[in-house]
Amino acid sequence: MQTLEKQELLEKLLEKANKTQFDFREISVNSYEKVLRIREEKTGLDAIISLHSTALGPTLGGTRIQSYSSFEKALEDVLRLSQGMTYKSAVAQVGFGGGKSVIFLNDKVKKTRELLLAFGEAVDLLEGLYICAKDMGCDQDDLSVIAEKTPYIVGLSHEKSSGNPSPYTAWGTFRGVQAALSHLYGSDSLEGKKVVVQGLGSVGEVLCDLLYWHGAELIISDPSSEKTTKIAKKYGASVVSVDRIYQVECDIFCPCAMGGILNEMTIPSLRCKIVAGAANNQLYCNSNADQLRKKGILYAPDFVINSGGLINVACEVEKEGYEPKKARNKTDGIYNTLRSIFDIADQNNQSTHQAAMDLAYYRIKYEIGKREENPHFHHKVK
Ligand code: NAD
Repeated sequence: MQTLEKQELLEKLLEKANKTQFDFREISVNSYEKVLRIREEKTGLDAIISLHSTALGPTLGGTRIQSYSSFEKALEDVLRLSQGMTYKSAVAQVGFGGGKSVIFLNDKVKKTRELLLAFGEAVDLLEGLYICAKDMGCDQDDLSVIAEKTPYIVGLSHEKSSGNPSPYTAWGTFRGVQAALSHLYGSDSLEGKKVVVQGLGSVGEVLCDLLYWHGAELIISDPSSEKTTKIAKKYGASVVSVDRIYQVECDIFCPCAMGGILNEMTIPSLRCKIVAGAANNQLYCNSNADQLRKKGILYAPDFVINSGGLINVACEVEKEGYEPKKARNKTDGIYNTLRSIFDIADQNNQSTHQAAMDLAYYRIKYEIGKREENPHFHHKVK
């Protein structure tokens, strides 16, 4: 679809939306296709849906439901996240654009069934230009309520759905670790390698399992002593406190918890050869990628190595429905993608983050991997 056609379509949809009980207001943001604030008086719904780019397909991204200290903070969050989805989707070649939504909660507005239904109706008015999914504050039960009003949703619990993305994210991350090893040492082998895993949540725990069975020596960290005790016992791992994790001498550091942890404070302390983990937005700012490179640390760009969950969910909207083996095999492609990114970064004397961004820009510019078939949604709206 040409940009002008898309703009016209969006304008038409907004015109229609504004004849409903919803107040759709456009927030003009440079280089974003459409950013919409949506309010409804009856339920108190106040949400933002950001459509960063539909160049490669309809936008897809999670719905975050939480309170924010200000509207500006919520906007900043949704803009950053939707832009990130554009690049992640472009590199993963899943035929989606970048989108994201947030619903703000406050003292008066709580997460109720009515609020979620209203959000579902609002999503539906965009006729599939935005497809929502699970994110912080939005669990599978919440998704099921939203899905009563719109088909444009993925990650539900029906039989054709892709289910929990975390094992796929962990598998992609594991293959990314192997790609980094292969780039540095000419071998994928994890035998005897010291690997630090920060965060033992849905992804970190599965990653520990994969690393362990491939011969790694695990060093783990999580604020939950219940989790560290369990993993330490299961895999003979050493436990390090959350504030000492950055100083641990190791081969590979796998951040699998929060973002912004690669920064001016932590990078000088790192004593590893590879940073390869699932956490989103690991770099505090882009220049931290150059800092890692100068320090001789190979960094696997987060939006590439952690795309297994997205690849998995993208398999759900195929005509025949979700097929796990297909999702696993596509996720495996992260290995080759990262190998190419590492090679290109070396050839161009640039950071791996920049090489990955350049690849995303290139695919978007030349519409490589653009969706050719409309996505299929396999649940019925009530
Ligand atoms: P999760 O909430 O299940 O687990 C996060 C874990 O990190 C928890 O065990 C928590 O206790 C721990 N943690 C919190 N603060 C910590 C600290 N200071 N030090 C060490 N551990 C700490 O989350 P998840 O689904 O496992 O996701 C982990 C990361 O990967 C997040 O950044 C997420 O955005 C990203 N990610 C996840 C997926 C997915 O499929 N789940 C996909 C892409 C990216």
